[in-house]
Amino acid sequence: MLKKDKRRLYRRVRKTLGRFTPLRADCGALCGKRCCKADGQTGMLLFPGESTELSVQGDEKRRIAVCSGTCRRSERPLSCRFFPFLPVTENGTIEVRLDKRALGVCPLLGVSAQVRFSQRFLHRAKRAGELLFADADCRRFLTDAADEGAQTAQIFSIFSKNK
Ligand code: SF4
Ligand code: SF4
Repeated sequence: MLKKDKRRLYRRVRKTLGRFTPLRADCGALCGKRCCKADGQTGMLLFPGESTELSVQGDEKRRIAVCSGTCRRSERPLSCRFFPFLPVTENGTIEVRLDKRALGVCPLLGVSAQVRFSQRFLHRAKRAGELLFADADCRRFLTDAADEGAQTAQIFSIFSKNK
């Protein structure tokens, strides 16, 4: 059970991200909203102690918000707001990088060099990342997420070499 109440932190993070999204265009219209193709069983990882109006599966260590492919946008989980990016630490600073866990889901990862992502979003996500990394639980959560992403990238690279 998390002792620290995260509500205030997550309110600040949501406010910092505001309405900005990774692309100014609606990428969901291009890919058919692949990241929101929920089947009522899979979902998005919740940050430590993050509350949601969606149904939750998993245990205290790994709580997953499960949606049916729609949600109240203003209430979507933090992971959905960052997707397909993730705040990470690099050489002691907080940066925002494409979330390798999204390989195989989000087509933007394969064409990222050609895509002009919203600088405003990236700036806000970095600031939001700084808030999150200042919290020990969130720091652990984001570090684990980055490790998981690195493993996913490794697996993808093995598969692509064997094609
Ligand atoms: S999967 Fe990627 S491209 Fe598609 S809606 Fe989600 S973020 Fe946009
Ligand atoms: S909670 Fe909303 S934004 Fe997140 S995956 Fe489900 S429908 Fe998409």
